[in-house]
Order: sequence, then C-alpha cells, then structure tokens
Amino acid sequence: MHRIQYPAEKKRETFEAEYIELFHDLERAFAALPPEKNLGWSFKDVLTKDFEALAKKAIEFGDTFNGCEVIESVFPYEEYQGKISHFFMEYGERMKLSACHYCGIEYINVYEDMGDYKNGLELVNEADEMELLTITGMGQNKVRLIVNERPIASLDKLDGVKGLGKVVIQQLKDYENRNKHYRNHFTLDHLLPKSDYPHFALSLYNLIPSCYTCNSKTKGVKDLGKMDDLVLLSPSSDKFNVYEMVRVKMVHKGPTLEKVFDLNDFSIRFEYGDRESTYKDYIQAFKLHGRYPFHKDKALDLIVKSRNYNEAMLKELEKHVKIPRNQIRMDIFGKDLFSEGESHRPFFKLRLDIARALKIEGVI
Ligand SMILES: [Zn+2]
Repeated sequence: MHRIQYPAEKKRETFEAEYIELFHDLERAFAALPPEKNLGWSFKDVLTKDFEALAKKAIEFGDTFNGCEVIESVFPYEEYQGKISHFFMEYGERMKLSACHYCGIEYINVYEDMGDYKNGLELVNEADEMELLTITGMGQNKVRLIVNERPIASLDKLDGVKGLGKVVIQQLKDYENRNKHYRNHFTLDHLLPKSDYPHFALSLYNLIPSCYTCNSKTKGVKDLGKMDDLVLLSPSSDKFNVYEMVRVKMVHKGPTLEKVFDLNDFSIRFEYGDRESTYKDYIQAFKLHGRYPFHKDKALDLIVKSRNYNEAMLKELEKHVKIPRNQIRMDIFGKDLFSEGESHRPFFKLRLDIARALKIEGVI
C-alpha cells in the first residue's frame, strides 16, 4: 500500500540508464517494427516512460496489440526475468524493498533463497509454489502445470508438459548448477498485463515488486476500476495515493473501546476518502478485506497497550525508571510509529492507522 521509492533525481537517471542497458540486445528488433506497431515511441521511451504515460498509451491503443506475437517477441519478459530480478535486488536496499507494495502486509523476500534440494527432480516434486516461482521464466500458470504433474519420475517428463516452455525446463534441469545469479528472489507484477499490452512487458514502471499472494490475484486491470484511475492505484506512479486515501479502521462491538479484550471484540474495516469506488476496487482486487482482519492481533496489541500504558502511567514510569517518557513510549508501541520513512515495513499502514485512531501521543 506504499509508493515504490525509486532513486531520486540524478540517481534516477543512472537507475534508468542501467535498466535500459539490460536490453541492448533487443534494440534492433524494436527498430525493425513497422511504425504502426511502435506506439510512436523510442526504445528508451517504452522501457522507461513513467506509469502515467504508459497508462495513457494503454487507453489510446486499447486492445489493438492484445496477444500480438511480433511485439511479444520484441519484449520477451520470460527470457529477461532473471536479469530484471537481479537488477531490482541490486537496488533492494536503496529502494527499501521490504513489504509488498500492493498489500503492505507480506514480505517480498528479497534475501530468501530457495530450499536446499538434492537435485532438480526433488525440487520439482517437493518445492512449494513460492519457491517454484523464483525460477527464471516461471509464472503462475507454469507453477500450476508443474503442481498438477506431480509426482514425476524423471525430469525428462517435463518435455511432455505443454506450455511449460524451454526456458523453464532448462532451468529445472540445470538446477544442480545452482547459478544464484539467475534466481529470482521475489515476484514482479505487471500492472498492465503483458498479454493485453505486450509493449509494456519490460517497462520499468509497469513492474511492481509484490508478494506471491498479490501477484496471484485474479485481478485484471479491468477489475481495478476505470483505466483513467489506474495512475492513482499504481505504486510506481507519482500520483499513487492509496496510502493516503484508504484508512484501516477498527469497529468495536461493545459501546466503548474499553471493552475490547480479545480478537472477537472488534473488527477491521476500510474507510475511504474521495473516489470511494476506485479505492474499493483496489482493496477488493487484492482481497484485503479478508487478508487484513487476519492480522487483527497487531491492532489488538496496540489497543491493549494504549489502555495499559496511558499518559498517566507513562509519567509514573518515567519517574521510577528515569528514562524519558518519549523513549518508553517508543519501546512499548514500536519505534517505527514515531518516525517518518518507515512505510515500507510490513504491517506499518495497519499499525499506523490504528495507533492514530487510538490517539497515541507522538505518532506521526
Ligand atoms: Zn502483497
């Protein structure tokens, strides 16, 4: 639920230039496209135009290029998936890639490696879906194909699985070589789906670092409200404002918050600013109505603590332990709630909105 923190100013230029460099092999194929197929853009434009420009083009051309094989072959995401993922990993710390940008609750596992399997066969038969998805060229549909085939007796059986593709099969067969460089460590979602908009399969600002659950949503952009509003809903866009426009809210069952003692005593809802239907679509597309309440314990923790450690109590503590009240407050409720720039952490939005509603002093 937070905006992607790209490098700023001059560093952004370097970031984009390094990204374009990954694809120099494709430039000639792009140059050979007939004018009616190049969107009136340069190769650099297609790769690094901001999300708003991509969305405008998507509206202008609609489904003209839906499934166009010529264009798909100029922007072959699966072949470059490993390189792209590696690029994001290199920038992982600087971009604070930690929680999923869509949901804000799950880690995106930049540093998680794949389990340790004896060989490719064991990997195919035993790896969980998340691990399989870290393999270059793998997507949701291919993971499903593999899971449906299990167990297989030998890796050669994969050659007979329709739709798995050479890249994936080779990766699985090469597993023993364990070339770390070509492993993905998290998933990137194409907000403008590459099947509908093949030009944008490699576009930097169309790629959203996200968790497995958000990436396996059934959402299409058509479910995400009107195309015009997509710039408000893309974490890669300057205009993204879900963070500001959607609030997590607790609704207590009893007459007051004083009666909230366990998870059944309250529920978690969402509250919206303007354009309610647009943001509701977002919450629904990523199934956050069901996923946020699952983490109610984080809210309950704050509710109970804010009751146990009210300001009078904190004053008392300050006197006795001789630690400044601000410090005690941070130790109890979590430091992140009291300083800017922490929105990239999992559950931050949930905790911040609840802490604000509880009027905990000093919360940003
Ligand atoms: Zn997510």
